[in-house]
Amino acid sequence: MILLTCPCCGPRNVSEFAYGGSLADRPDPADATPREWRDYLYLRDNTRGWVTERWYHRAGCRQFFVVERDTVTDETRDPPAVVDLMPAEPPTAEPPASEGAP
Ligand SMILES: [Zn+2]
Repeated sequence: MILLTCPCCGPRNVSEFAYGGSLADRPDPADATPREWRDYLYLRDNTRGWVTERWYHRAGCRQFFVVERDTVTDETRDPPAVVDLMPAEPPTAEPPASEGAP
């Protein structure tokens, strides 16, 4: 049995969690090419050793959190951190610059 430590609930069986993928730098939506998006969404390094991953406690507190995990031994480093996936301030839509407005 593999145990994963939720920052809210403590150690639990890994079957309670959903894997959210490894943390990767997200390309800027404003100027990313289709190839950069494809690489970000579908290509993974499959690293042997320590990786930083996002997990979701679907059978518990329903929080996303970040864990550093060794992919060889499934050992994790403490403490995991809860991740707020929503920005504190939603992006504001800038009105388009008026062209020739009075
Ligand atoms: Zn939890």
